[in-house]
Amino acid sequence: MSDTCFACDNPAATREHVPPACLFPESKDTQGGQDLRRNLITVPACVDHNLAKSCDDTYFLWVLSTNLSANSVARQQVATKLKRTNERRPALGKAILRATKDVTVIDSASGIEHDAVEVPLDGGRLQRVLDLIGLGLYRHHFGKRWVGGFRVHPDFIGSADSSPMLNLDTDPLILFHAAEKLFATEVKYGENPDVFWYQVHEPRGKNLCLMRLVFYDGCTATAFFSDGPG
Ligand SMILES: [Zn+2]
Repeated sequence: MSDTCFACDNPAATREHVPPACLFPESKDTQGGQDLRRNLITVPACVDHNLAKSCDDTYFLWVLSTNLSANSVARQQVATKLKRTNERRPALGKAILRATKDVTVIDSASGIEHDAVEVPLDGGRLQRVLDLIGLGLYRHHFGKRWVGGFRVHPDFIGSADSSPMLNLDTDPLILFHAAEKLFATEVKYGENPDVFWYQVHEPRGKNLCLMRLVFYDGCTATAFFSDGPG
């Protein structure tokens, strides 16, 4: 019996890394040759649901590793992997950096100001990547494909004029605000936590599954799987 794709009914042709493998530094790019690619998660995938195919994985690496909340492993990926990719295929980087704006960011905890660059976001593309990662993790964690409604919300994207991206029923929204508390005691999965880990929370008595995805220590996304309308 052959496997079906994690995201559709087509037969799987390959295995796809979830999240994309490019997020995890090769040992030559880590300090002291640290192994940050231990037991990466893969799921069966068809040819259409391959994150690496359309450079979406590289775009995702761009967005995460240049985020102010990301840790030093992410910075290292910018200086190595992204730099090499950019030299080989400059088009993506050029497109991303074309419309940047110099901004000042104030650390709300310390009050210290940082010079930063605001990069316009391709929200549709980011959402496409996050949705596939959400579905992939569900397939990996539960061993079956999720077929109901779902939403993956990037908590790490901030902008002065950003409109709320959530459009969910009241109940999941309340859960979203309580996410920190909900996940406080849940197991952390992922063998390279400096790059990625996730948690799962299934509220008792509700037909709902929540996942918390954490990239580079500081970039968090919350996935909602609910049998309500998607
Ligand atoms: Zn597919």
